[in-house]
Amino acid sequence: MSRLLWPIGVLFVCTLAFGITTFVWTSDHADRVAAEGQRERLASALQLRLDAIREEFAAALVATAAHGANGDVAFRTKSRPAVPPRPFPGFDGAALLSPTLEPSGKSFFGQPDPATFGLVRSLLAGMLPTLRSGSEAPPAGEAVPPPRLPVDDDAQARFLSDGTSHFAVVAIPASRLPPALARAADPSDTLIAWIRFGDDRFAKIARLQRLEDFRIEQANSAPFSGLPLLDGEGQIAAALTWTPDRPGDKLKRNLASMIVLGFCGVGVLFGAVALYFHLTTRNLAETDAISKELLGRDPLSGLSNRALFNDRLDMELERLTVGGTTNAGLAVMFIDLDRFKDVNDTYGHQAGDELIRLVAQRLVEALSEKDTLARFGGDEFAVIQTDVRSIEPVEALAKRIQDTLSRPFEVAHAQVTVGASIGVAMAPEQATDREGLMKLADAALYQAKSEGRNRTSFFQSRMDEALKMRKVVEDDLRRAIEADELVLHYQPLFSSDGENIVGLEALVRWPHAKQGLISPADFIPLAEERGLVIPLGEWVLRRACEDGKRWPGMRIAVNVSPIQFRHRDFVGTVMRVLSETGFEASRLELELTEGVVVEDADAAEAAMVELRALGVHLALDDFGTGYSSLIYLRRFAFDKIKIDRSFLESMEATGESAILVHSIVHLGRALGLIVTAEGVETREQHRFLQALGCHQLQGYLFSRPVARETIDTMLVPRSASLPADAA
Ligand code: C2E
Ligand code: CA
Ligand code: CA
Repeated sequence: MSRLLWPIGVLFVCTLAFGITTFVWTSDHADRVAAEGQRERLASALQLRLDAIREEFAAALVATAAHGANGDVAFRTKSRPAVPPRPFPGFDGAALLSPTLEPSGKSFFGQPDPATFGLVRSLLAGMLPTLRSGSEAPPAGEAVPPPRLPVDDDAQARFLSDGTSHFAVVAIPASRLPPALARAADPSDTLIAWIRFGDDRFAKIARLQRLEDFRIEQANSAPFSGLPLLDGEGQIAAALTWTPDRPGDKLKRNLASMIVLGFCGVGVLFGAVALYFHLTTRNLAETDAISKELLGRDPLSGLSNRALFNDRLDMELERLTVGGTTNAGLAVMFIDLDRFKDVNDTYGHQAGDELIRLVAQRLVEALSEKDTLARFGGDEFAVIQTDVRSIEPVEALAKRIQDTLSRPFEVAHAQVTVGASIGVAMAPEQATDREGLMKLADAALYQAKSEGRNRTSFFQSRMDEALKMRKVVEDDLRRAIEADELVLHYQPLFSSDGENIVGLEALVRWPHAKQGLISPADFIPLAEERGLVIPLGEWVLRRACEDGKRWPGMRIAVNVSPIQFRHRDFVGTVMRVLSETGFEASRLELELTEGVVVEDADAAEAAMVELRALGVHLALDDFGTGYSSLIYLRRFAFDKIKIDRSFLESMEATGESAILVHSIVHLGRALGLIVTAEGVETREQHRFLQALGCHQLQGYLFSRPVARETIDTMLVPRSASLPADAA
């Protein structure tokens, strides 16, 4: 539906553009018409004024004629005294002009003001010829009827200007004058009369026409849009100008605001419609998704969702047990794309969604119809393969999936390769309940991913060993400590020539009824988490001190966990155990790690000072794995450093490790510490360490950790000759 919005929008915009263009054209035209109208109105107003002036001229002629042509006739009435007549009342001046434009000798007006007369005369230069040719003089003797003045027909009136002074001038051939006046003139003369027409008089006329900004400009300037005032030659001398009325402009302004308003209105309308469509579409999509969800579908891929998968799996598992032994088993596969996140990050979420759909498609093709395929969300898919009688079809399906998913996908116009990790668990062999089975498949998937991805991992029992161990520790360790079920093994430390045992390291073991001998690496961290390491540590210390009494003069090393060491009563515990067992403090060596001193250096230092005051030796275990800071070595009074066995392991592979071991040995020696290397497994390592000057060596090459009885036999032949502080 929202697709319709575009064409409608385009149509709307086109119509609007057409409308605006037409309107602009029309309003410009209206402006032109209005301006023309104003000109015409002014022109006809001026013409009316000229007509009026001609009438005034006629009246003046009559008045003047009545007084006598020579101006010597006095005008008398009863009420008024005789006044010297003023020729051509209402006019500023009048003159008779000969054809050469000279003032005629028969002037009956007196001499006009010469400056004005000169000006008017020069203005008249081009006007008179037309006047004279205008009408012929009447035949001599023909009577002209007095009431009818020839002014209307024969007098010409016009405005003349030299640019600064303007005049309304009326002219009439002498031959057309009333007889009283005509007698005083030559027939070829022309009578002219003028009125000085100042700017204000023009302005008054203009005002009546409602012209704005009316002014008279000298017309040598730019082109103008008003009316010209001509000089005698017919050249434009001045221009009547004004600011023309622009009705179109006003309209345009009105329209502009209307358009803006209209646009806002339409915008709001459009927005409302778009919003409506958007909401409707989203609602539809949501409804669709919800209905799919209700149907157990994943909206993106169209596959089953987790809920439906669970139902199916429950159903299949039920069938498995109901049917008894004859029924085939099933396999649950968890599939996780390896580089899905990269695709998402690189090409965006839409590409990611597209990829999910493509993957779903390929998975559907790889499966058989009986199998169930689901998407759990993100890039996680799951499969239930039914009718499984052996491992081969499961392996085959996993391989098909792996193959099809490692082929490139075309997404966002790019080729992407993702690959998949698959974890498989089988029922009923490995689990018969849904939750159990899914946990195993998940563990297998985790395994596949941690083994380097793009591989299939079948669940094997060792995978959840860690889980089981946790449970065992939680359930049994406390009881085992209390019941004295733990044992200590001892690993001898040898002099650098590998000949003499110079010390023993106590290492705890847990012989578990079901799990067999559990390594401390498996249960110490858990014991630390559970707070069991305190009783455990105390048990080890006590047992080591007791055992140590079997081997007089031999120093016994006991590992101390940081948690144990930080316990506020640790030193007190050591003192108590020493006194209770009667073991010499000087024969006890506590192996601490850097973790002990890093956390709370001050407390650690205080405890160490106390321990050393007792005569207890302190060794820095696993040296080189942690902070390996010289500061610790200098600040804390260790007697010994034990170079971590990871250095020896990598020594053969990298020259760097050899250099490091070399430096550590020299450093330790320089600080006056006993340097011990642990994890010595080969003769080469032994020779190298011996050559470097390591004091003590420990490792499988010489002896594994062994039971105390074995130590008894190892020590018997030489015990007499071994000094306690051999180093
Ligand atoms: P660690 O203190 O570094 O102990 C040395 C570990 O290296 C021992 O493992 C020992 O069996 C092993 N080892 C000795 N020589 C070699 C060799 O040549 N090659 C190899 N690959 N390994 C060798 P174990 O006994 O499994 O102890 C593991 C860790 O458990 C010990 O590391 C120690 O940190 C901790 N641990 C052991 N017993 C105790 C204890 O009683 N209390 C505390 N807190 N921790 C203990
Ligand atoms: Ca140790
Ligand atoms: Ca160690």
